[in-house]
Amino acid sequence: MASLAAWYREHGRHDLPWRLTTDRWAVLVSEVMLHQTQVSRVLEAWPGFIGRYPTPPTMAAVAPGEVIRAWGTLGYPRRARALWEAARVVSERGWPDDLSELPGVGRYTAAAVAAQADGADAPGVEANIRRVVERIAGRQLGDAAAEALSIEVGRPLRGRDRLLALMDVGALLCRPRAPKCDACPLSARCKTRGVLPDDGRRRQPRYEGSFRQRRGRVLAALRSGPQGLSDLDADALRSLEADGLAVITGTTARLP
Ligand code: SF4
Repeated sequence: MASLAAWYREHGRHDLPWRLTTDRWAVLVSEVMLHQTQVSRVLEAWPGFIGRYPTPPTMAAVAPGEVIRAWGTLGYPRRARALWEAARVVSERGWPDDLSELPGVGRYTAAAVAAQADGADAPGVEANIRRVVERIAGRQLGDAAAEALSIEVGRPLRGRDRLLALMDVGALLCRPRAPKCDACPLSARCKTRGVLPDDGRRRQPRYEGSFRQRRGRVLAALRSGPQGLSDLDADALRSLEADGLAVITGTTARLP
């Protein structure tokens, strides 16, 4: 069986466009998009979005509603609002030493950007890597334990290569259903070989009929221009307003 490093050299997704840059902002935008959205959809959206907002100042210069509109139908539009807020912070004060101080940037995203853009040996655990290390361990792991195991099973890879190699094992082999354990470079030390620990805690709720869907409908209407309040789902609109994704003035609502 090939080592993780050899497997990654041969099979890694080296051509993903955001992997061809080490620009912090471009990597941050890709990570924010990839969180909760499939790679195929990010492949369609990222080039145009980063072409439109290639730097934090270019995004900070426009109204948040414009960024939300440019986000299109990628879903979870709070991410677009948070990116705009992060762009403002970076434009005004520069990049913080601890990237998790930026709006919308959590523990994983901070580590992933530091590893990919700054060459830091920061361990990051997103959904794919978590699935890999939890299947290897045969149990659910807290953040620190999952990061520690990712370092251990990733050796001798470090930083960016370790992060991307484990992510690719998760995305290409250690799939949620029917993992390809026979081809997995980590199979020798895997406790479960695909028999899952209970991962129900992270199952995504259904979209159809959900409140998310109702919010999505209102946001789609606002993207086309201001709307009368009587035409909109009031609960969903209030929730969007609370998230900074809609502004209500008198009897109309619009993007911020
Ligand atoms: S052996 Fe199978 S379950 Fe274990 S990490 Fe590899 S693909 Fe996942």
